[in-house]
Amino acid sequence: MSDGPTYGFDTLQIHAGARPDPATGARQTPIYQTTAYVFRDADHAAALFNLQEVGYIYSRLTNPTVAVLQERVATLEGGVGAVCCSSGHAAQIMALFPLMGPGCNVVASTRLYGGTVTQFSQTIKRFGWTAKFVDTDDLDAVKAAIDDDTRAVFCESIANPGGYVTDIRALADVADAAGIPLIVDNTSATPYLCRPIEHGATLVVHSTTKYLTGNGTVTGGCIVDSGKFDWSANDKFPSLSAPEPAYHGLKFHETFGPLAFTFHGIAVGLRDLGMTMNPQAAHYTLMGIETLSLRMQRHVENAEKIAAWLEKDDRVDYVTYAGLPSSPYHDRVKKHYRRGAGALFTFAVKGGYDSCVKLVNALEIFSHVANLGDARSLIIHSASTTHRQLTPEQQEAAGAGPNVVRVSIGIEDADDLIADLDQALSKACA
Ligand SMILES: *Cc1c(COP(=O)(O)O)cnc(C)c1O
Repeated sequence: MSDGPTYGFDTLQIHAGARPDPATGARQTPIYQTTAYVFRDADHAAALFNLQEVGYIYSRLTNPTVAVLQERVATLEGGVGAVCCSSGHAAQIMALFPLMGPGCNVVASTRLYGGTVTQFSQTIKRFGWTAKFVDTDDLDAVKAAIDDDTRAVFCESIANPGGYVTDIRALADVADAAGIPLIVDNTSATPYLCRPIEHGATLVVHSTTKYLTGNGTVTGGCIVDSGKFDWSANDKFPSLSAPEPAYHGLKFHETFGPLAFTFHGIAVGLRDLGMTMNPQAAHYTLMGIETLSLRMQRHVENAEKIAAWLEKDDRVDYVTYAGLPSSPYHDRVKKHYRRGAGALFTFAVKGGYDSCVKLVNALEIFSHVANLGDARSLIIHSASTTHRQLTPEQQEAAGAGPNVVRVSIGIEDADDLIADLDQALSKACA
């Protein structure tokens, strides 16, 4: 689509980044199941390798189907560019890679996806990076945690499982004052419910595995750059502001301006880390995004109905859903997440661990899986699965106590989901 008028979200989710295929006229974006692209001549090849001309060289770097997805997600998030990669976890490493070096740290929210906590607290140490975890509602603690070696602040917009939503603007202001970027994992909210760049985020990361694809078919990730951060304002980001030895001394920020991070992500990140998204995955995700707004509306509508029903039920102790008026985060939702608080929440079952296990076993429509953001409704009892290795205190702190189950509400009929929960709660609490 051309840079004409500003289109609405529903139009952009179908058209952004795409046009009829120039080779065949195919209206839908073809799956370019291709690895290499012929150079017109030696000069063309040299220009491509020098990044003087944009084009396709080899699919570890860029692929025509993946490129459409990159432009689509960048547009929906209000960014200037995006880099897709093989999973959400790959996106997190790819986002930190140009910013960090040995000895550097990231200040991260304590309320993160469990896999991210492990990646940040353990695995990144192998690169000489560390993470400092802080409660991002305590802005003084965030400020105190930032030191001379901090290169980013990292949070999730809507963070499961505790029904928590982040005040992105407040956190962005703290990061800004320290001259470092705020990275927001927007997986659970999607750009339909929240556009972190509008609230001051520099980078947005996604697990496209979840709502963007929407049906549990492929893993993928994406990093979107706002294009607004001045990488040359201080000497903290030499990969972007100084001559990059990994790309024969190219100065990315000076050469590419607001697209510096995106170009570095492709020319150095994907080239050397190789966490590439495959064109089949990009195709499934493009298909999913075409209906993102419709699905998110239904996910939210169902989640609101079901959370309200559970909250009134005697067999349930409490429900942590930011969309409920009883939630401590309800005002924050009204301010920053006007279209709703997503479709992930936890609830506590009377009878504790045993009742939760019985509930999960008795459900018929809900599937017991370690995933979220699927069209179908999902449930997990964290204490007996994903959080099994943790102590009871750690489980409690993670919002995954033995008496709690997490649901990812799908887009089925809400009445059917309520009936399923009703019959299973009866068996669980008998
Ligand atoms: C799933 C998830 C991830 C990790 O994504 P993968 O695609 O599984 O690698 C990161 N953050 C959040 C919020 C997630 O839900």
